[in-house]
Amino acid sequence: MTVQQDSPGDSDTQDLEVWIDQDLCTGDGICVQYAPDVFELDIDGLAYVKSGDDELLQEPGATTPVPLPLLQDVVDSAKECPGDCIHVRRVKDSVEVYGPDAD
Ligand code: SF4
Repeated sequence: MTVQQDSPGDSDTQDLEVWIDQDLCTGDGICVQYAPDVFELDIDGLAYVKSGDDELLQEPGATTPVPLPLLQDVVDSAKECPGDCIHVRRVKDSVEVYGPDAD
């Protein structure tokens, strides 16, 4: 018998959200190259997160959920971000797991 492993209890990789600190964004667009479904450059030259239905979220500190299939792309964006301004955190307790404030 084959056992399916969907890891329903793996909360470390579930329910993550991401936000960008535009004050530090250099506008190079690296994040948009990595994860164009999550990040977008606006006409002001800064990157913003997008909602699930592709709407740019421009309020300071606005977050969007990280789709699990895009997690690695979002994490790579945070690692490569020259402004160190991409923050990935758990939804349930707002603890940063990737980004400049992660342990
Ligand atoms: S990678 Fe960082 S600095 Fe570059 S556009 Fe994206 S958020 Fe801004």
